[in-house]
Amino acid sequence: MYEDDELGSLRGMIEFPCGCKARALIYEGSKGQFSVQCPICGKYTRFDSGTMSAVTVRPVRGAVRKLNLRKPPSR
Ligand SMILES: [Zn+2]
Repeated sequence: MYEDDELGSLRGMIEFPCGCKARALIYEGSKGQFSVQCPICGKYTRFDSGTMSAVTVRPVRGAVRKLNLRKPPSR
């Protein structure tokens, strides 16, 4: 099930710095940094929605396992 995205709630977008034609959409009210894996090349990118910039980063080792204390329901 998809929710409709509202164009009005978007503040802008940041391109992945790895050179792929992928972008991350930044919503109004979002601040801080977040990490997304590039859907094309699989590299990790850290986005800063405050400065609207992005850098390619090496994934933090074991971060997912550490944060994933509760297992999501398997599909
Ligand atoms: Zn990429």
